[in-house]
Amino acid sequence: MEHLTKEQIEELKGILLEWREQLIKESQESMGEPLSYEGGDEIDRADTEAGRLVMLRNLDRDRKLLKRIEYTLRKIEAGTYGICEMCGAEIPYPRLKARPVAKLCIQCKELEEENE
Ligand SMILES: [Zn+2]
Repeated sequence: MEHLTKEQIEELKGILLEWREQLIKESQESMGEPLSYEGGDEIDRADTEAGRLVMLRNLDRDRKLLKRIEYTLRKIEAGTYGICEMCGAEIPYPRLKARPVAKLCIQCKELEEENE
């Protein structure tokens, strides 16, 4: 990881930790929202159902992101952070700054997207 200075790693780690905190807080808040099925007519119930689905989707997305952040933090600890998982190239700092959970270099990321 010589392409990243200690300070840069610390900075990115700080961003990841803060991000994780925020996601945990948000998921706890949405979990705490009461889901009422009592009373109301059919339309109200449909709205509640739709809202619940959106919430569950958001939770799922947050959970995946959270896992990705945890994974990235473990890579920082292991000293393998900032290395492309496909080709082994060093991921430049500006890319990591823009997307701290990036695990592929731009070239590999583009290839991966083309394959999708
Ligand atoms: Zn690569």
